[in-house]
Amino acid sequence: MKKLILSSSLLFFVLFTQAQKIIPCVTDELYLESVAQHPELKLEEERVNAIARLPIMQKAVTVRYIPVVFHVIHKYGVENISQTQINDAIRILNEDYRRLAGTNGASSTDPLATDMQIEFRLAQFDPNGLPTNGVNRIYNINTDNARDQQKALSYWDAKKYFNVWVVNSIQNTTGGGGTILGYAQFPFQLNSQPSTDGVMALFSQIGIIETAEIAQAGRTLTHEAGHWVGLYHPFQNACSGATSSNCASQGDQVCDTPPVLDANYGCVNSRNSCTNDVPDLPDLVKDYMDYADGNCMNLFTAGQKARIDPIMTSTRATIFSTANLSAAGLNADGTYKTLTPSTTKAPYQYNFDAGTLAGSGWTLENYTSPGDSGWHIINTLGANGTGCMNAMNLKNNRTNVRNAFCSPSIDITTLNNPTLTFSIAYAKRTNASADKLKVYISDNYGRSEILAKTFSASNMQTGAVSTSSFIPSSSEWQTLTLDLSPYKTYTNCKIRFELQSLLGNNIYFDAFSISNPVGIDEALKQALNFNVYPNPSKDFTTFSFENTKASTIEFSLIDLQGKIVEAVAAQNFESGKHEVKMDLKGLATGVYMLEVKTENGVFAHKIMVE
Ligand SMILES: [Zn+2]
Repeated sequence: MKKLILSSSLLFFVLFTQAQKIIPCVTDELYLESVAQHPELKLEEERVNAIARLPIMQKAVTVRYIPVVFHVIHKYGVENISQTQINDAIRILNEDYRRLAGTNGASSTDPLATDMQIEFRLAQFDPNGLPTNGVNRIYNINTDNARDQQKALSYWDAKKYFNVWVVNSIQNTTGGGGTILGYAQFPFQLNSQPSTDGVMALFSQIGIIETAEIAQAGRTLTHEAGHWVGLYHPFQNACSGATSSNCASQGDQVCDTPPVLDANYGCVNSRNSCTNDVPDLPDLVKDYMDYADGNCMNLFTAGQKARIDPIMTSTRATIFSTANLSAAGLNADGTYKTLTPSTTKAPYQYNFDAGTLAGSGWTLENYTSPGDSGWHIINTLGANGTGCMNAMNLKNNRTNVRNAFCSPSIDITTLNNPTLTFSIAYAKRTNASADKLKVYISDNYGRSEILAKTFSASNMQTGAVSTSSFIPSSSEWQTLTLDLSPYKTYTNCKIRFELQSLLGNNIYFDAFSISNPVGIDEALKQALNFNVYPNPSKDFTTFSFENTKASTIEFSLIDLQGKIVEAVAAQNFESGKHEVKMDLKGLATGVYMLEVKTENGVFAHKIMVE
């Protein structure tokens, strides 16, 4: 009996330690598998390594900017990381690769520590030239035990973008247990294996915030990108390449990194695993290309940079070419190109009455809740019209539930005092319900966002506290308002509503509108003595107004999707009374907004077309 207890606790110990074991990188193992399938890889590796040794190539370059795309393969779990977490990962990459002053990337005082002159940028345009936030989210249960096969779920041309796949777990075929953090393909694999080129990493290795693991400091990506630009591990071929005559052609083929017998794990302060080097130097344990914990690594060396400069120029030149950067939405200096203003103009309103979001420019971003417990459109009720957005939030009986939906990009520079209004119906499940509706605003398709406002459960509440499914009556709606004037220069204003569920009841959203506040429109109209007749109109409508002094006025007729359907170009009107006729022939019956742009401000006037 005693023996049995001992063996079962031993078994538990073994299982426990296996579950905790970390395998920082399987790039070498998978490269060997690739060589078995593509024997020509060895020749290509030799060819590229020979280029890296050419003295003429060993010269400084200007900073290389790399467009990046993240493919988040998820099953609505913690692996479906936020844009903010991805942006955090890009920040860390750039701090480490540029050795940016004042950041952890510049923490090494070792004289070898070097600026790699590489910077990463989330792509602004996708391969079709369409605007993007640089992130693709793909639902697939094979985010567990992922490998190269999963890369086909989402991939952009590796000659134009650095592909990073984010997954829940990576298949372990090393024979032992352990959690694999990531792996990369080398530049000399690009020609044979273009469709798997890039890096695959665990969600917990992306950035250091939210669902990221702090111990690795986000540097799994720094390490894997190191392979992607052409670096080996310092323990490549153990203690070989130990003298000045062979350090450039053996081991990691970098002369200022001392040879290392095998990987340094955890947080080693000092070790001298190879004593055959001349002079005999200790391991460079803080090299990003070794296996130390992220918090305990902090440098690339001048020799590593000298190796990758010619490799990048010879194998990855297309990705940082001016033409390619431009296609990805970047200028040659790494800044983002200015986006053309959206053709959807404010004033804009949307009532979710079409039964579908298709063609509306609105998108669902349900991160954790598929189906009706996340956001979806319904056609059974609304604050305005027959439909609205809804999340059957009563089913979200857990924490860390995040689901969002997103407006189209809207040019709000057309308004003097842009103001967002929308209708909400919501009930708490108990007094402790703490759901939040967060309103994020972006001017670049969501790549970077500002949290403009958080509405609490109490802010939103319109129905009585109830544990049964909340369905609002017509009186259980309220209008919420947000001043958008801090963002009035936004030509591509995209608004994302993220519900962070915490044990509340159902929520309904309708009557999204961006316009000037009614009072401002009325004051401007009165100052001009502005009138429209007939209204409702058919074929033609006439605007009458009176100028107290000569001034320029422009008229745009905008449909409910925010598209300009008719316009009278800006022109100067003398002081006195005027009439302007607008042709309405061919327009669909319905409600339109006439936007009148004057020197004193912009106002809107509703026009019915019959
Ligand atoms: Zn590695």
